[in-house]
Amino acid sequence: MTGRILIVDTVPTNRIVLKVKMLAAQFSVDACGSRKDAEEVIARQKPDLILINLSDPIEDRHGFCRELKENPDTAAIAIISVGVADTARARFAALDAGADDVLPRPINDALLLARMRSLLRVRHARHELMLRDGTSRALGFEEARRNFDATARIALLSRHAISGDALAAQLNSGLSVPVTRLETDTVLANSVAPVPDLFVIDGTQDNDGGRAVFRLISDLRSRAETRLSTLFVILPHNEPEIAAMVLDLGADDAVSLDISDDEMVLRARALVRQKLLHDKLRDTVRDGLHAAVTDPLTGLYNRRYVEPHLSRMAEQARVSQREFAVMMLDIDHFKSINDRYGHAAGDKVLIEIANRLRENLRAIDLVARIGGEEFMVAMPNTNNEQGHIAADRLRKLISARPFSLGPDKPQLNVTMSVGVAVGGLERLNRVQIDTMCNLADEALYAAKSAGRDKVAMSQRLAS
Ligand code: GH3
Ligand code: MG
Ligand code: MG
Repeated sequence: MTGRILIVDTVPTNRIVLKVKMLAAQFSVDACGSRKDAEEVIARQKPDLILINLSDPIEDRHGFCRELKENPDTAAIAIISVGVADTARARFAALDAGADDVLPRPINDALLLARMRSLLRVRHARHELMLRDGTSRALGFEEARRNFDATARIALLSRHAISGDALAAQLNSGLSVPVTRLETDTVLANSVAPVPDLFVIDGTQDNDGGRAVFRLISDLRSRAETRLSTLFVILPHNEPEIAAMVLDLGADDAVSLDISDDEMVLRARALVRQKLLHDKLRDTVRDGLHAAVTDPLTGLYNRRYVEPHLSRMAEQARVSQREFAVMMLDIDHFKSINDRYGHAAGDKVLIEIANRLRENLRAIDLVARIGGEEFMVAMPNTNNEQGHIAADRLRKLISARPFSLGPDKPQLNVTMSVGVAVGGLERLNRVQIDTMCNLADEALYAAKSAGRDKVAMSQRLAS
């Protein structure tokens, strides 16, 4: 796995031992003893993950972690605290300061590396989501700081009533949302709805070397509906090899049963926050993609969306041997509407035209706003005659009913000219599709010349 690791420990031998292990695992490594040096390294080249000894007696290591997590520039760096005393208090203090995990000495190498891989995997996924949308970076950070969301869904999967009850009680003691008990076998056999944000998996009673838990994690990770849920696995005492495997199979966290209630709750909350943050980022990316291809005034698709869509329509037309129609529609004397009634009135007319077009076309038709007062409609399975009829229907849709500019405002008669080109029986490349649009445009100008409020058909085929 690739990644840039920073080791922070005052004891040189600790640094050297860890550094050797990290280099052997193919990571790029920096190591330093003081906070000042660490800050310099971070400023120079941000690490993906920091291994920090929180039991260092000098400097305020916990304060350092807290600051890293509170700074938007460094908040996403994963932190594993190594060398913490193995007491409930020390572990909690480390997690509370912002460490993503705590590994007491002696460190189990397999578990450390699996934990690092799991944290880096999450970090890479988040990084990718943020790259796709610059603004989500700030947003993601805000969301990460947000309090535990009261709408989160947490499910506990247990095959054992007694340990399941105990775990549920442990979690419920500190969480603001109740934990739902689900039967493992039911979940394996059916789909779960609503899908939990966090699955807590009880592996504490299994004596099968982890096999049942491995299978469950692989199953949840590979299913479309649970693929994005976070997985928190609770294992029996002292099973570092199973924990390492569980993390490598895609669990987000794995702990042993004997952690304190507080730690259990803290970890569950962090996992839910991580899930909600990723959901939010994915939504933002999706919204961003949607915004990139739509026109904010009318909500119609914009010019950017049209080209790839027409290519698909042309391909379908050739395969099905059914032509498609491209129509260019332009409002007549729109400038005079703006001039007489103002730009806002002009906007109202554009919105109303978009609504009328949208409501009167089939779901398979495309309607887009491709210029100020120019629209385009593309209709699959449409020959010359059908194209003419459809275009005339759209023309009448505008001219037949006056437009209302609002109460106490005059009703306005608006008309529109339409040019139509039909084709697609032959394979059309991008240039030929452009030609077809140009032919529709030429027809539109013929309709304008013929007196406006008219439909004109292109006489030439686009191939
Ligand atoms: P024609 O019948 O020949 O098409 O005449 P026209 O007045 O419709 O055409 P022209 O191209 O001269 O004017 C188009 C006008 O559309 C000019 C421009 O200010 C206006 N326009 C373009 N985009 C918008 C918009 O988003 N809102 C408003 N209100 N007006 C717009
Ligand atoms: Mg125009
Ligand atoms: Mg016009």
